[in-house]
Amino acid sequence: MHRIVVLGAGYAGAFSAGRLARRLHSDDFEITVVNAEPDFVERLRLHQLAAGQDLRHRPLAEVFAGTGIRLRVARVTDIDVERRTVTVVDGEGIDGLEYDTLLYALGSTATVDVPGVDEHAFHVAARPSALRLRARLDELGEDGKVLVVGGNLTAIEAATEIAESRPGLRVSLATRGELGGWLGPKARRHLLRAFDRFGITVHEHTAIERVEQTEAIAADGTAFASDATVWAAGFAVHPIAASSGIEVVPNGQIRVDRQMRSVSHPDVYVAGDSAFVIGENGRPLPMSCASAGATSNQATAAIIGDLTGRRISSASLAYVGNHISLGRNDAIFQLVDGDVRAKPGALCGRTAARVKSAILSTAAWAMSHPNFGMPSHRYRLAAAHDLVAA
Ligand SMILES: Cc1cc2nc3c(=O)[nH]c(=O)nc-3n(C[C@H](O)[C@H](O)[C@H](O)COP(=O)(O)OP(=O)(O)OC[C@H]3O[C@@H](n4cnc5c(N)ncnc54)[C@H](O)[C@@H]3O)c2cc1C
Repeated sequence: MHRIVVLGAGYAGAFSAGRLARRLHSDDFEITVVNAEPDFVERLRLHQLAAGQDLRHRPLAEVFAGTGIRLRVARVTDIDVERRTVTVVDGEGIDGLEYDTLLYALGSTATVDVPGVDEHAFHVAARPSALRLRARLDELGEDGKVLVVGGNLTAIEAATEIAESRPGLRVSLATRGELGGWLGPKARRHLLRAFDRFGITVHEHTAIERVEQTEAIAADGTAFASDATVWAAGFAVHPIAASSGIEVVPNGQIRVDRQMRSVSHPDVYVAGDSAFVIGENGRPLPMSCASAGATSNQATAAIIGDLTGRRISSASLAYVGNHISLGRNDAIFQLVDGDVRAKPGALCGRTAARVKSAILSTAAWAMSHPNFGMPSHRYRLAAAHDLVAA
């Protein structure tokens, strides 16, 4: 048996595992997925969870039922790339999982590079932290100040969602640059109008340098009173890859080739937010749900090709734009050109919100039905000498 271990069952890991299980012959391949949580978590909706909405429960045991995939609910703590072993921890203790091929899809987490963030701030990059923020907002009830730090997609989505769901709270946002400064003129006008409508105060050109329990301090010394500071100033990758000796770039993403193989350890494939790969436009592919789909397509094609001797097809690694929700009834869909410059027009308002909601539901449905609509090709493991000849 050739043992494939998939780390992470988010958008990239769950999708990839299902695809591998469908294509590879179960007499030759054993596929194990390790995930810290027992559920598939719709990360794209975590700001909604934090704001107080309930998300649909999607147990991974049900998602993978009938696929032959083994599920291990445990936390990955280390990878020994020489011995090809992953260390995992669960309620039973510490264990080692051996692999022949590894697919690394542990996603990303919030950057915590400012003093006090770890101790005093909240974030929405994972379900446990989103639930902690929700509990804090519940404590505040109808009276309190929430400061969202960051000016990019997650900060915008978090600020607007909280302001809409909890109108009693005074929400403000602090960002180093301009709020939505990268958007085209139509989208930016729409964004600023939405912030106005929600009553969100915006502090632009404000770098927060320290977070305390009840305030956040900017570089110029200004203190912003805050009962809940939401840190949404960027994403970084878990340090597990770097500490295992796999080559990474400064934010912790694993450097891969066009086939999503680690450049330092080619038996380690990477998909989703953890991969540093150059897209069709010659720039690093941004962390996003669409990138998770594209990199999963490419990584699984490469694994299947490398292990069965088949030709590896090229998946498109294109970046076309962003969907940004502004509460439940408003959104922006901004397309970008080949140089990642926002196109002048944008889809805004209720229609954009409906489109975004349809995309999210379709993505979650696809994750929950890993076998649906895929032809069943039970490819066999190629003999080592065939692979060398290929
Ligand atoms: C609030 C929010 C809103 C977003 N909105 C959008 C959007 O509108 N559009 C968009 O394109 N992108 C959006 N994103 C980004 C998007 O969620 C990510 O790009 C996407 O989830 C990446 O998929 P992934 O599979 O790489 O990672 P994830 O979906 O995060 O999956 C990683 C999996 O690994 C598991 N895991 C992590 N560490 C360990 C460990 N040590 N041991 C075991 N398991 C572990 C996690 O539990 C998780 O299941 C948003 C992100 C956030 C936080």
